[in-house]
Amino acid sequence: MKHNPANAIQDVHYTDAHGGINPAISDSSTYTFKKAQDMADTFAGEKLDAFLYSRHSSPSTNQLCEALSAMENTEAAQVFASGMGAITSVILQLCKADDHIISSRTIYGGSYAFMKNFLPDFHIKTNFVDITDLKSVKAAIKPETKLLYCEAVSNPLLETADLEALKKIATENNLTFVVDNTFTPLVITPTDFGADVVVYSLTKFINGSSDTVGGAVCGTLDFVNSLKDVNNGAAMLLGQTLDSLRSASVLKNLRTLPIRMEKHSENALYLAEKFEKDGLKVVYPGLESHPSHDLMSSQINKEFGYSGLLTVDFGSIENANLIMEKMQDKNLGSLAVSLGFYRTLFSASGSSTSSEISPEEQSEMGLTEGLVRFSVGLDFDIKRTYQMMKSCIDEVMS
Ligand SMILES: *Cc1c(COP(=O)(O)O)cnc(C)c1O
Repeated sequence: MKHNPANAIQDVHYTDAHGGINPAISDSSTYTFKKAQDMADTFAGEKLDAFLYSRHSSPSTNQLCEALSAMENTEAAQVFASGMGAITSVILQLCKADDHIISSRTIYGGSYAFMKNFLPDFHIKTNFVDITDLKSVKAAIKPETKLLYCEAVSNPLLETADLEALKKIATENNLTFVVDNTFTPLVITPTDFGADVVVYSLTKFINGSSDTVGGAVCGTLDFVNSLKDVNNGAAMLLGQTLDSLRSASVLKNLRTLPIRMEKHSENALYLAEKFEKDGLKVVYPGLESHPSHDLMSSQINKEFGYSGLLTVDFGSIENANLIMEKMQDKNLGSLAVSLGFYRTLFSASGSSTSSEISPEEQSEMGLTEGLVRFSVGLDFDIKRTYQMMKSCIDEVMS
């Protein structure tokens, strides 16, 4: 039977020692060993079932890891203090000096800045390509290429990567295929199409309440253990550890992810269809007008829709700013970066989350200055929201 990510989360259940319906939260940074030899064996990497120190793992971080690896259908997972903590650790674990990366050019600004500006000083070079153009992906491969990196659905243009085709290229050329699935948890299960490593910012949909930053890596047990290795592991040595208390609260929020994703998607599709009928330039993968609509339809777990992100091009930054301020004044959402919150969030991508990308590169990739990204919230009455948004838009555009 096909892996169902929502059922997989539900089937991972914990109680506490007293039968409490939530797991106990581990409140310790260090752990006792009954036998001195066990401590030595743990540090030597010969004993993997003991807790030694919470930068490595804790009972609470492990529970969140188990639920996330169940969701992604991977052997294991590791959680991090932020999405960037997860992404940078994966890259530094897999690439050493003189290695080469091929990355989609439309990725999260921080990931782009890390590969473009930070890694060259460590002699790791990246080619940024149009990930929807498989020929250019192949053409960028060099003998020293180690990693193929993309987002399942890209930020902010919402292009869909053909995961199966990319995996084939990766396999033929011995590359590790890493997919950032932050925009589409449950909607897409990248391992269904062969992704080797799935990375997340937990900060967004998965936690969903915009009250913490966090990240995760899902992959094979070997890879996750390499990240946690006390001598060579990027997770262990760079120390980007998620706190136990936060792990427990993210795990609680993960429980409602299936119904939240359903509603985010339903509301986003409603707004996208209405805005498109109104003649606005809308990008939403659930619309037939979207260039990746068919591909996206073949990759999604249908019951979760096309996720909650859409963009509207309001023509100029002046229009975009006025409309966002009016919508905020009417309590239709918040003028804020980030996504996956229960309340709608909007921002002009070019001057905010993608500002690391130069104006020339932005225009080359079709990121216009009037482009507003909406992370559509869980509004109960989306028809009312639409009517109110429409009047804000009409006041500025007509
Ligand atoms: C936010 C985001 C990140 C970075 O995550 P943080 O938790 O902010 O460090 C990475 N990738 C994508 C697609 C994101 O949206």
